Amino acid sequence: MKIGILSTNPRLYSTKRLVEAAKERGHEVAVINHKRCYMNITSHRPDVHYKGEPVMKLDAIIPRIGASISFYGTAVVRQFEMMGVYSVNESVAITRSRDKLRASQLLARRGIGLPVTGFANSPDDTDDLLDFVGGAPVVIKLLEGTQGVGVVLAETKKAAESVIEAFRGLGANFMVQEFIKEAGGSDIRCLVIGDKVVAAMKRQGKEGEFRSNLHRGGSASLIRITPEERSTAVRSAKVMGLNVAGVDLLRSNHGPVVLEVNSSPGLEGIENATNKDVAGMVIEFIEKNAKKGKTRTRGHG
Ligand code: ADP
Repeated sequence: MKIGILSTNPRLYSTKRLVEAAKERGHEVAVINHKRCYMNITSHRPDVHYKGEPVMKLDAIIPRIGASISFYGTAVVRQFEMMGVYSVNESVAITRSRDKLRASQLLARRGIGLPVTGFANSPDDTDDLLDFVGGAPVVIKLLEGTQGVGVVLAETKKAAESVIEAFRGLGANFMVQEFIKEAGGSDIRCLVIGDKVVAAMKRQGKEGEFRSNLHRGGSASLIRITPEERSTAVRSAKVMGLNVAGVDLLRSNHGPVVLEVNSSPGLEGIENATNKDVAGMVIEFIEKNAKKGKTRTRGHG
């Protein structure tokens, strides 16, 4: 097969591993920088050009779209879909999961456990918003944040009010969440491919840090997850419409709660923690599922 990996950086661990795994299985593979793609949007012959030429005929793409270029990146994915190229994660699914508010609403609608969450832009009544989620301590998050930036633990009502006032002053969208103290500064990343959790790791924040992001100095280890956690992760990916997803869970007193469903999960942490060939499993999924024109939405939505 001819497989394209949409990535802005061929030197990233995940990109390198996907290239390696595709080659090992006898496929032709190209890394395409979606930022540098340009498109001809006509109904009879949609096309994508790259470095002055049409992109080679591909059977499948693996989008690795960074949060900062979701808008343009998903447009490029959509264009490939219009050309009948199979995308392991479809553009609509990526867009759904990137919007934290939309994603939480979709997950809640399907009965997936979430931390009790209030959303706001410019609340007139901070007290009421805080009561919504059971009062301090609360976690307040900027909607646009990633890798733990803009995620604040407010231990008291006063602190929460100050943070909300600051976010409101910035005109930012934010959410206020019940603080899952019992998670003890750790979360669980489940790597879902198709309808299976193929690897899971526990991330533990460094001493005194409630955020477990590896980018913030957290450490990863192998973990056995419960059947309930497994089904929560698989269902969450399905609700988003993602075939490959990193689902982040917290262990709360009221069962597993989903923090985020990531459409371009990093492979380095999870492959190192679990010793599993996740990149190879992504390629195998494509081998089984990428039939020409099988993309469900073909650029719709
Ligand atoms: P980002 O997408 O920026 O990584 P997250 O929402 O995943 O933001 O939050 C970062 C980390 O903070 C999580 O991995 C988790 O360890 C911790 N965290 C986030 N929300 C809560 C919460 N409601 N209760 C307890 N810990 C939380």
